[in-house]
Amino acid sequence: MKIGVLALQGAVAEHIRSLEAAGAEAVAVKRVEQLDELQGLVIPGGESTTIGKLMRKYGFMEAIADFSAQGKPLFGTCAGLIVLADEIEGQEDAHLRLMDMTVARNAFGRQQESFETDLSVKGIDEPVRAVFIRAPLIKKVGSGVEVLSTYRDEIVTARQGHLLAVSYHPELTDDYRLHAYFVDMVKEAAAGNE
Ligand code: GLN
Repeated sequence: MKIGVLALQGAVAEHIRSLEAAGAEAVAVKRVEQLDELQGLVIPGGESTTIGKLMRKYGFMEAIADFSAQGKPLFGTCAGLIVLADEIEGQEDAHLRLMDMTVARNAFGRQQESFETDLSVKGIDEPVRAVFIRAPLIKKVGSGVEVLSTYRDEIVTARQGHLLAVSYHPELTDDYRLHAYFVDMVKEAAAGNE
């Protein structure tokens, strides 16, 4: 099983390391043709506007929409979560519009630009170590979206079928259980797609 990490901008190497620690083969994705050989894809953190721009430039908007339509799982972290969202507060345009949720960018303000905390995540036994960096929040979700964790009553982890999104950076810690959770989603989807 092979999982890609979209490598246009952002934290790529760290995701590859965490996916490998979770038992998957992982590759950096720079060209749309590579998607054909992959069973799952991570969209990393970075700057969502930049990632969106590069995705448009290199043909990834249609290619990833297609990938998702085949039931292949996507995992968006931080900026990657913003890229997956249907709506971005205060912006006319969203990016992939795959996940039925509205997100707010840089939602923690100056005082709390970056911090770490332990989060309880549904489906994972012990709390997960989460690093938030100029992080977004999920303000609204549709009925098909399951909330997997909240931080101070705000949604920071959500799943909609084969789509997983987190506000934080799970790849910046040695705790790779969220990657393992995603690897399981990919295994299940691959088994179902056969
Ligand atoms: N603030 C960034 C954005 O709006 C996301 C930050 C991150 O990915 N760490 O795209």
